[in-house]
Amino acid sequence: MDDILAEVLAAIEPHRGEGKVADYIPALACVDPSKFGIAFADAGGAVHGAGDFEAAFSIQSISKVFTLSLVLEKVGVAIWDKVGREPSGSAFNSIVQLEREDGRPRNPLINAGAIAVTDQLIGAGDADAAIGALLALLRARSGDAAISVDEEVAASEAATGSRNRSLAWFMKTYGILDNEVETVLGAYFRQCAVAMSCRQLARAALFLAFDGRDPASGAEVVAWHNARRINSVMMLCGHYDNSGEFAYRIGLPGKSGVGGGILAVAPGHGTLAVWSPGLNASGTSAVGALALEKLVDLTGWSVFAPRP
Ligand code: GLU
Repeated sequence: MDDILAEVLAAIEPHRGEGKVADYIPALACVDPSKFGIAFADAGGAVHGAGDFEAAFSIQSISKVFTLSLVLEKVGVAIWDKVGREPSGSAFNSIVQLEREDGRPRNPLINAGAIAVTDQLIGAGDADAAIGALLALLRARSGDAAISVDEEVAASEAATGSRNRSLAWFMKTYGILDNEVETVLGAYFRQCAVAMSCRQLARAALFLAFDGRDPASGAEVVAWHNARRINSVMMLCGHYDNSGEFAYRIGLPGKSGVGGGILAVAPGHGTLAVWSPGLNASGTSAVGALALEKLVDLTGWSVFAPRP
């Protein structure tokens, strides 16, 4: 795996810095676009990495995978009353579809759906407890108690998040959100602002590659059926309106974040996290996707092929 990662690093070198860094969240605009890191967490819990794989970045929408994991365990199938599980074919922050579909978001990985999931994670509790639960999961699974929210990034998004406020208020009028809009958004902006490295992210998500269990400790993080369902939603919805493109090129469930991270799950093998801040038009890391494409080329991994 170390040789494969070195080969991936060499392959992306001519492309380093490609794509456009997200600037609609001002605190993300100043990230160095030439950064690149990749990590793989294996079946024994060991992490292999190359490039800037120990550098922390803003996980942004990758957090949606973990809040969905917590909520599926917490409220079970009742979450599907609040949010659908169909691909949207629309941008991450689209409002048009919400109006046509009575305020119920298409899936939990577009912004509206993730805001609805965070509302369920808060439940009758408070926003701090919801973020506390998310951090507890990430810290326990990655084995790093230092993982935390970058409050500057959270404040930057809170100050400029008018579109997410529109989505939330729209859902509120349809009774999708139980809590107050600003309470839910406060938690949502903070979950997106969690800072993690590729190493931590790959390790934290390892349960998704092993039917809900952490393969190193044997701990059940989510029920096996929930792990499979989360992976299916990632496969179909993890990259907004370029989910089809990602499935076609990479063939693994994945989730993008506008911080330039991508988490990908290779069931039975392990988890991959890649980071390169430049994005394509749909908000997926341009060089990150190239790196994953190269990696699956070298390993032969795909959910559409027999496990080698
Ligand atoms: N915090 C971002 C937003 O809501 C997340 C989007 C993403 O990472 O795709 O706009």
